[in-house]
Order: sequence, then C-alpha cells, then structure tokens
Amino acid sequence: MPWCERCSQFRESDVVSEAGECPGCGSVIVTKRKSPWRFRVMVALTTVYLSYRLVQGIMWLSHHA
Ligand SMILES: [Zn+2]
Repeated sequence: MPWCERCSQFRESDVVSEAGECPGCGSVIVTKRKSPWRFRVMVALTTVYLSYRLVQGIMWLSHHA
C-alpha cells in the first residue's frame, strides 16, 4: 500500500490517481514503471533483422528460381 509522507497516511491503491497522486494532497506517492524502452528497441531491432532476412530469402529465391 502506498504511503503518503505529506499526509502521514497509507492510501489504498485504488484511490491513488492514474498519475500516482495522493487523493488528499495531490503529491505523487506511486512511481509508475516507465515504459520498457529497452524491450521496444529489442523488438524493433528484431523486426528489422527479420525483415532483412526475409528480403535476403526472397532475393535468393528470385536468383535460384
Ligand atoms: Zn497525501
């Protein structure tokens, strides 16, 4: 359960706003996880690599058909 320093109270997770703010004083008490950009970069690189391999495969097929 998130603890609000300013109110010196525990706040239920379901009353904490979407931005992680305390309903009593509005200070941010829950640090939301940042978007996993490393994962997105990995997915993007994998997609690029697979596209490259696909193009290579198509080129190979067109040359050996
Ligand atoms: Zn508060």
